[in-house]
Amino acid sequence: MARPQATHGEARMLSNIRIVLVEPSHPGNIAAAARAMKNMCLEHLYLVSPEKYPHDDARARAAGADDILNAAVVTDSLQSAVADCAMVFGASARLRTLNWPQFDPRQAATEISRLSQTSQVAIVFGRERTGLTNAELDCCHYLVHIPCNEQFSSLNLAAAVQVLAYEIFSAQQAEPPTNSDDQDEPPVNQLEMQRFYHHLEETLVNIDFLDPDKPKKLMRRLYRLFNRAQPQQTEVNILRGILTAVDKVCGK
Ligand code: SAH
Repeated sequence: MARPQATHGEARMLSNIRIVLVEPSHPGNIAAAARAMKNMCLEHLYLVSPEKYPHDDARARAAGADDILNAAVVTDSLQSAVADCAMVFGASARLRTLNWPQFDPRQAATEISRLSQTSQVAIVFGRERTGLTNAELDCCHYLVHIPCNEQFSSLNLAAAVQVLAYEIFSAQQAEPPTNSDDQDEPPVNQLEMQRFYHHLEETLVNIDFLDPDKPKKLMRRLYRLFNRAQPQQTEVNILRGILTAVDKVCGK
């Protein structure tokens, strides 16, 4: 894909990048996020089970970004919102206890800018009151935390979208990111990874390595391992082949 460049006269939208809001409760926040996105040339808004959408209160707040608001894709799970994405960044107001790889907005934007040349990339934002659950963070390769007053670290949802959108816009304006992996396949998308995880979990249960009553910690560690590795389709095919061979030996 040609690298989009926003100039003074002409803004090219950054079409491989999507903003995902998980269960936003206030229509005003959805609208303000849409406006923040359009200012920064982002156009793809995904809403996971929004409490109120569409809603009249949103229209005035969108102030010219109604097109982004009206075109928002509504899904009933985070997994379906990011199924075709190769890379998913989760925005978190808190520094998490589990060691997810973590970026600040500028580092994340550089990475997003590079990856979005060849793949779909999502930035996921949590609920106004409770943020993202650990299960939702399992869908994320990286966390992004906006450094701020750590005694008061929770930005308004749309303000957090604005900060990330600005950094992505700025990164796109900078020198073209060099993609050292140009010759390689891009990382596999989340739908393929979900299928792989499902198969892996089944096989691990079959060989009595995983207790189905307490799968959480082991699977979470494995998600993080594979998220770090960012496997390509060919590599996932090899892993699936190995699992199938193990299944055969176990007679499954
Ligand atoms: N009370 C929630 C915060 C919700 S704010 C909590 O403690 O998690 C709504 C969303 O805005 C968050 O889920 C996150 O996606 C984003 N956000 C708010 N402040 C942020 C920060 N400092 N860094 C990154 N994202 C932030």
